[in-house]
Amino acid sequence: MRIARFTPPVDRDGQRSGDPLFGIVGRSPEGEETVLKITGDPLYSGIHPTGEVFLLADVRLLAPVIPRSKVVCVGRNYADHAAEFGSEVPPEPLLFLKPNTSVIGPLDSIVWPRQSQRVDHEGELAVVIGRLCKDVPREKAGEVIFGYTVANDVTARDLQKSDGQWARAKGFDTFCPLGPWIETELDPSDLAISVTVDGELRQSSRTSSMIFKIPEIIEYASAAFTLLPGDVILTGTPAGVGLMPPGCSVSVTIENIGTLENKVISRG
Ligand code: ZN
Repeated sequence: MRIARFTPPVDRDGQRSGDPLFGIVGRSPEGEETVLKITGDPLYSGIHPTGEVFLLADVRLLAPVIPRSKVVCVGRNYADHAAEFGSEVPPEPLLFLKPNTSVIGPLDSIVWPRQSQRVDHEGELAVVIGRLCKDVPREKAGEVIFGYTVANDVTARDLQKSDGQWARAKGFDTFCPLGPWIETELDPSDLAISVTVDGELRQSSRTSSMIFKIPEIIEYASAAFTLLPGDVILTGTPAGVGLMPPGCSVSVTIENIGTLENKVISRG
């Protein structure tokens, strides 16, 4: 099931509030993509359809989740990406955090900050946590996963190097695009993942090339942090990371989930 967060089209008599809604992405009998509105937030109140249906083309998709407390990220989790920067593959998952204020949705603009001369894309598979958990053994990791979405771990590469700590380089506002929706039924173990910039292929790999697999990452991360429903884990990026110049359009595609597209603009 695909769960989207969206704002509906403005209605003529102004009856609709414009507050974000959640819905199930599907198809009409005529073959058009649709969103069936559900009540409340599926992370807290389950999935209850209302019967109200919008055309997907008429709604504005938002980030499918605003992480309740944090985005946990894994660095150097594909050997080919570690090698392209001359780094060793870490013996244990290398974790860092992005603030939830960095999250934006599909088609929102990634803002190139004036402090950086090099802003890069990192296409990544994202895991959405479904319930409060701590010390989750890898065998039970599936029980705490709500679903999966697509992420771009936007990185100010020059500041990542000069700062040493990655909080600023990875944490600017707009540096965590998520979307287009959460896929709740997915085997994430061997999916094609790719990134294009203005249509040109930059990254292309499979999730089977991850060094630390998702159950292992959840075990490792939850041994350090309590995970809350709506927290998000980014699972690392394959080789081919590179510049996203202002004005470009960047798309991250993961098989069986979809494509997350964003434009890049200059802060000016
Ligand atoms: Zn990354």
